[in-house]
Amino acid sequence: MTVTCDFCAHRCRIPEGRTGLCGVRRNSGGRLETTVYGAIQSAALDPIEKKPLYHFLPGTRVFSVALAGCNFRCRFCQNASIAVPEQFPLPVAHWDADRLVAEWRASGTPAIAYTYSEPTVWQDYILDTAPGIRRAGGRVVMVTNGFLTPEATERLVEVVDAFNIDLKGDDEFYRQLCRGRMEPVLDTIRRVAPRRHLEVTTMLMPSRHSAETVEELRRALVDAGVRVWHISRFFPAWQMRDEPPTTEDQVRSVLDGIAATGDPPFIFAGNSRQSEYHQTRCPDCGTVCIDHRSPVRNLTDRGRCPGCGARLYGVFE
Ligand code: SF4
Repeated sequence: MTVTCDFCAHRCRIPEGRTGLCGVRRNSGGRLETTVYGAIQSAALDPIEKKPLYHFLPGTRVFSVALAGCNFRCRFCQNASIAVPEQFPLPVAHWDADRLVAEWRASGTPAIAYTYSEPTVWQDYILDTAPGIRRAGGRVVMVTNGFLTPEATERLVEVVDAFNIDLKGDDEFYRQLCRGRMEPVLDTIRRVAPRRHLEVTTMLMPSRHSAETVEELRRALVDAGVRVWHISRFFPAWQMRDEPPTTEDQVRSVLDGIAATGDPPFIFAGNSRQSEYHQTRCPDCGTVCIDHRSPVRNLTDRGRCPGCGARLYGVFE
């Protein structure tokens, strides 16, 4: 019997004994299973700023875990070894929900992040484990490409406190380089923005992101109510090693252009030395509220500007 998977917008129809596009969701006797369930590929402590999340518990560390798998095949993938099934290394551990909570507790961090590969394709593991983390007092972060079905998004917003979602480019970018589409990602962003903490990341590839494209993305994010946008530099990887890296001048120019519009109000540089774009400034009075470089200096009073007292977008305690 063929079964349809609703984890992501590909909605693969999977015949008996086969897997979907991601290679990790399998039809086993008419039931879908995730072949990598509980198989930990990576577990590490990261600064929360590395996710990147700049307005969610700034200055803390987060317990980051990954299983293998991805529903995209980006030609510039920075993590191909845990995204492409033929490349998967052996897992470093097998953790059920109780063991994951115990490992998170032992980390001494205030949050867990499902990250590194694409958690969309192993979201059943998130749905099974995140409630236990929350009951134990932890917060839950998901770093994702956002190519979810509406029903998957609805399930996940119930158990996830903060999202970082990639908005990679326009629809042509998704179709030509990622084997995806733009609209489902925008739909996820629109659903998450009013309900959970959300930051969006776009990796700037100058040959593919014209000024018009950046403006198209900016307008879409502003319309969705997004407040925090990270623009990160591209570095050659995987099947796009001939593409030149984004220069500091290029990322600076794009950020200056977005800053001139004033919206989204918080924009940051990733993989870049642009120090001005590693600071949170109060949109009302311009006071530096957080300096996100290491060590992070959070000058806010529980999220309020130290200059004028305005409340900033984010989760600070
Ligand atoms: S997660 Fe996405 S790619 Fe994988 S089987 Fe389900 S619908 Fe297909």
